[in-house]
Amino acid sequence: MKSEHEQLAEGLKKLGFEITPEQSTSLVAYLEALDVTNRSFNLTRIPREDYVTLHLLDSLTTLLAIPKNSPLTIIDVGTGAGFPGVPLAALLPSSQVTLLDATLKKVKFVEFTAHECGIKNCTGVHSRAEVLATMPKHRNGYDVVVSRAVAAFPKLMEWLLPLAKVGGIVVAMKGSGYEQEVEGTESLLKRLGGKIEQVITIPLPGTDITRHLIVIRKERVGAA
Ligand code: SAH
Repeated sequence: MKSEHEQLAEGLKKLGFEITPEQSTSLVAYLEALDVTNRSFNLTRIPREDYVTLHLLDSLTTLLAIPKNSPLTIIDVGTGAGFPGVPLAALLPSSQVTLLDATLKKVKFVEFTAHECGIKNCTGVHSRAEVLATMPKHRNGYDVVVSRAVAAFPKLMEWLLPLAKVGGIVVAMKGSGYEQEVEGTESLLKRLGGKIEQVITIPLPGTDITRHLIVIRKERVGAA
């Protein structure tokens, strides 16, 4: 039986990335804290044995879409138990990651636990995406906006695109059937100032799941 560190390193290698022993220690400690807390607070429904693949490796597929020229400002909208934001912060130590969620209990857990595990370049924010986007500090404010399992594509674009800088990207993590969600959204994307640049399709290592990363470039400031 492989250790979680081995599973993580091997999975990342298949995705084309490397992890340092320190980063691996931080992330496996984070999973352990999540498991313990999850026994009293419902933070995730994913079973413990799938945390490395379905939480860490799945989150880190987004590295395939994220520009290599860090430091970047990244926001994870609807971070929940910290995914994909916390693994991204661990692997991109010079970038700054904002972990946004509408549920205070989750934001508190995620920020506190990430910091305790040595992942310091992340900050929890308790708000809703559509509220944050009305604030000058956050509107058009991020190089990269990521999100997993939060809303269907059209709603997600309304929430995410206003937070991206002009020239920045939105990365929507979707499963099979994403084509149907995307269909007919050209005029919505145009109104929001965005354009689909590419869809990255990748098998999730250690599973039979296929992940689709829809990458939307913000070309202009969108209509309010
Ligand atoms: N991204 C995590 C959690 C998904 S569950 C994961 O994939 O594991 C969806 C999360 O989005 C919930 O924690 C919920 O509180 C949050 N959420 C839903 N709508 C939101 C909004 N408009 N703004 C911010 N957070 C939102």
